[in-house]
Amino acid sequence: MSRHIFSADIVYPVSSAPIKNGTIITDDTGCIRQLGNSSDLDPSLLHYLPGAIVPGFVNAHCHLELSHMKNVASTGTGLLDFIRQVVTKRQFPKEEILSAILQAEDDMYTNGIVAVGDISNSADTFATKKNGRLRYYTFVEAFDFMNSQKTTEIFDSYKKVYDSLEETDTCRKSMSPHAPYSMTRELFRLINDTNKPHGILSLSIHNQETEAENALFLTGESAFVPFFESFGASFKDLPPAGKTSIHYALQHMDPLHRCLFVHNTLSTAEDIHAAHEKIGKDKCFWVTCPNANLYIENRLPHYKVLMDAGATICTGTDSLTSNWQLSILEEMKTILRYQSWLDFEMVLRWSTLNGAAALGWENELGSLEAGKTPGIVHISAMSENGPSANSIAKRLI
Ligand SMILES: [Zn+2]
Repeated sequence: MSRHIFSADIVYPVSSAPIKNGTIITDDTGCIRQLGNSSDLDPSLLHYLPGAIVPGFVNAHCHLELSHMKNVASTGTGLLDFIRQVVTKRQFPKEEILSAILQAEDDMYTNGIVAVGDISNSADTFATKKNGRLRYYTFVEAFDFMNSQKTTEIFDSYKKVYDSLEETDTCRKSMSPHAPYSMTRELFRLINDTNKPHGILSLSIHNQETEAENALFLTGESAFVPFFESFGASFKDLPPAGKTSIHYALQHMDPLHRCLFVHNTLSTAEDIHAAHEKIGKDKCFWVTCPNANLYIENRLPHYKVLMDAGATICTGTDSLTSNWQLSILEEMKTILRYQSWLDFEMVLRWSTLNGAAALGWENELGSLEAGKTPGIVHISAMSENGPSANSIAKRLI
């Protein structure tokens, strides 16, 4: 079997210290054989690249099936209006939906993403996922908008989507709740029952993305009330508990599973500790999608609060409906632009090894270590502190 030798100004293994003038030797399959320093090797053998080499990125939150809605929803209108736009505008001709999915996957592949935590409300992405170009952990996501009259019927339709996805080593699945504000207790129960026989899974839930979400559970006075009444829902079964939205989710989710809490723009230390206590810190993952947060609500999470509370942070792109591109490098650039106190190595860990652990693939992906096949990615135009505005990520293997 032939081998490949890559070298760059700096190699970031993630699981160990960066290597200046580092080299990586892989076999044809991309499995890493050895890390080292370029001075140890014959220069004529080296494939030298100016810039950095990093492991393949893990996109911990995406909705690949919404790729056809790029530029359809307006920016800056807030979460409620955004959801209304997605729900009312997502119907497009099937061939447009499918070709946008293929294009979006191709972009992710090229820009260095190797695995995706992907939300599916439909089976539209399943044929693409079956090709196995990227690893996918599919969260078949259910919501009933608190309409208890419709819970069973709605669950049955999502269960059909769930059943139609065949699992492989690189294509896993779970049933997942959408968000605290869109789930009756009964829908949580039906999801838990579906996941139960399959051991420890990864689950996802959108969390604390807008003020109105916490207000619904704290006081009951919330813009969500008229919003959901317009969908036929009633809140008589859900008196405000005086606690933030995540507590409602924690009360009804099965603590057996890993959980990816997505967005967390309003999460406090108390919220994070509550989740750590209920589920276990090692099973809680806090996914940030900064460009989507700026697109929808024009705000970012309190990264300092998350970090001080001991949160394991991961990075996601969300969908092309709420983002300008599906690129983890662009998410890292945004985080580092607005939070320059963070260092690149830390944010790179969020975008690789932490995401791999969230999806249960930390033994294969997420860091440059002998025996792993994590994907090898080049980042160009690096500055002293990390990527510059002009940096581009490109998958090498
Ligand atoms: Zn999302």
